[in-house]
Amino acid sequence: MIAKYRVAVRALCDFTAREGDLDHRFTPAPSAREGIEGHTLVASRRGEGYLSELPLTGAFEGLTVTGRADGYDPVANRLEEVKTHRGSLERMAENQRALHWAQVKVYGALLCAERALEHINLTLVYLDIASGKETLLNQKATADELQRFFADQCERFLGWAEHEADHRQRRDNALQALRFPHATFRTGQRELAEDVYKAASTGRCLLAQAPTGIGKTIGTLFPMLTVMPRQQLDRIAFLTMKTPGRRLALDALATLRASLADDVLPLRVLELVAREKACEYPDRACHGESCPLAAGFYDRLPAARQAAVEQAWLDRDALRDVALAHDVCPYYLGQELARWADVIVGDVNHWFDSHALLHGLAQANDWRTAVLVDEAHNLVERARGMYSAELDQQRFNRVRRAAPKALSRPLGRLARQWQALFKDTSFKEAELEEEGEPRKPTYRLLTALPDKLVIAAQQVGAAITDHLGEHPEDASLELQEVLFEALAFCRLAERFGEHSLCDLTRYGRGRAVLGLRNLIPADFLAARFNAAHSVVLFSATLNPAHYYRDLLGLPENTVWREVASPFAARQLEVRIRSDISTRFRDRGASINPIVATMAQQYQRKPGHYLAFFSSFAYLEAALARFREAHPSVPVFSQTRGMPEAQREAFLARFSPSGEGIGFAVLGGAFAEGIDLPGDRLIGAFIATLGLPPFNDFNEALKARLTARFGQGDDYTYRIPGMIKVVQAAGRVIRSPEDQGVVVLMDDRFAQASVRALLPRWWSLGNPNF
Ligand code: SF4
Repeated sequence: MIAKYRVAVRALCDFTAREGDLDHRFTPAPSAREGIEGHTLVASRRGEGYLSELPLTGAFEGLTVTGRADGYDPVANRLEEVKTHRGSLERMAENQRALHWAQVKVYGALLCAERALEHINLTLVYLDIASGKETLLNQKATADELQRFFADQCERFLGWAEHEADHRQRRDNALQALRFPHATFRTGQRELAEDVYKAASTGRCLLAQAPTGIGKTIGTLFPMLTVMPRQQLDRIAFLTMKTPGRRLALDALATLRASLADDVLPLRVLELVAREKACEYPDRACHGESCPLAAGFYDRLPAARQAAVEQAWLDRDALRDVALAHDVCPYYLGQELARWADVIVGDVNHWFDSHALLHGLAQANDWRTAVLVDEAHNLVERARGMYSAELDQQRFNRVRRAAPKALSRPLGRLARQWQALFKDTSFKEAELEEEGEPRKPTYRLLTALPDKLVIAAQQVGAAITDHLGEHPEDASLELQEVLFEALAFCRLAERFGEHSLCDLTRYGRGRAVLGLRNLIPADFLAARFNAAHSVVLFSATLNPAHYYRDLLGLPENTVWREVASPFAARQLEVRIRSDISTRFRDRGASINPIVATMAQQYQRKPGHYLAFFSSFAYLEAALARFREAHPSVPVFSQTRGMPEAQREAFLARFSPSGEGIGFAVLGGAFAEGIDLPGDRLIGAFIATLGLPPFNDFNEALKARLTARFGQGDDYTYRIPGMIKVVQAAGRVIRSPEDQGVVVLMDDRFAQASVRALLPRWWSLGNPNF
């Protein structure tokens, strides 16, 4: 008998009752909200005394099985499992139906045991979301039959559960003995580790501003792993903004795994990779008739899963090797293993997005999860993107031209609603058709959601879903794309509120985009922070704390800590040119003094520098002037939409002992996330405050943030701008041995409110340099 293991009914059946092909071809699945409404509708149609969402628990040899049955009618002694669907039920795959029966049978066994019933009526209720029609599939079962079925499922799971319980025990024992893998902590690293340890031990969130070079990755992972057994954490998620950050986390985890004196730390580490990067057959669809790695996926999954957990180290390459050795899809094997890994390294969307895999699993399985977020200063913008959506008129029009007949009416209605919207928002055709002039996009902020257009988009979504349910052969890529666009837009429209705004941009006749733009991600993210045991957000720039607390919706008791820098003020000379204005109206006049300042510094100390500007136009003007005035100084420049190979060539120019100035745009590819230690970079010129452009959208954002937090100007302009400035300047000093200079060129850098946002370890020079 195993010591103790708890599993949800759904997870148990997913494990024991799935077989055959993986099938992710277009399935006309209702949205989560439709699903909830469908369940409520079914319950409302039942008689008095009907019990919905009935909690049930049972045990089998140390295994505890829990769940909530959808509904039970005690008078008819009927237990129901409700599934919402669209389109013909006949298209439902056999293995899907078998899974549903398995679930209702397990619930039936638990209910019979709990209420001492001798038999029960089991019903699968399939509710068609479009028509509201119920199809009932019934089975009578005795308590004995159901108990045997339950015992059979549990027995098939028991071996795995024992294995899991044993792994958990070994993992936790080993983590109790975990020691820091290096001889000493770097300056600031111990402080960071202690803060993470305390936050995770007390179940709080932590905002940790910690400078580059102190070893933040291992400085956060080590304490979190140490806390894991003490706080009975099920999972740790290490989440990054960009792919290179995942490598750093995996390297740190490899070091920690190898740090036990006599063994490898029994820790399962999984790297979650995006589908397009993990897919072996990009030209196929994800179902058994198209992709060989989807055919028979569930039949081969148990062996692949077993091999994967034995291997334990599952970065992208290792996971691919296991998957291909067992002829299963690496991407979907990764999704399965997210259920069984201890540490998961992946993109930040896996916890914070509306369909986040890890958050969904944590909710379904009641996990205690700790989340580490690297480069967290980017989370505000990333989260805004996660909760924003667009409807593209041109795309829908294109689909309409070739649409099957059944879709022409709803698509026609939508097209008419676009025209009505243009009328309502006073768009004049003249704005689009000035002869001989380039057509300029016209932009409007809408005061409310255009309800009729949203309803028309909903109807298009429902019509395409129903049509594809009946005619899956019509599922062209374009039709599926507009369907997902309509569904995503309508889902967000349902939650539209003060946290978002709606805007309309018209690029020309038949070319408009309706946007739902999230402004305050806090309203979506607050529940995500609460769902985790502890979240640690860390970055070199998390100042001021209230900006992140307010915009991310961090819990009240979140702790903010600034870790002392290992760098000394003498390493970095910071100068402010307060006699230069980089305001838009002053840009022409600013070029000469900017160029002179750069040349003067370069002559004083030749070497590699980066020069940052607010836009390509500004950059190009300064570059042209610099070339003209100082032709002997090597210069090179970032270009618009620079391909990856050219970006790499740009960085390769920063060779040790080399010389030259690289011109770049603030907030772009070279302003953060690049590492040029030693004399590969000895200085940065920053000719901008990094302020977002002054336009209708940003002014609306400012008004909204003023109304909510009383901080419109700072939250819209100053703080996001200074985060970019500090990130860019942070490229210069990467280690305690580095020496360098940062020249800030704008009079506003001398203002106390701006200087307060600069790193404290900087020693600011004379503002009149
Ligand atoms: S290999 Fe690609 S096409 Fe095949 S199931 Fe995986 S993701 Fe889908």
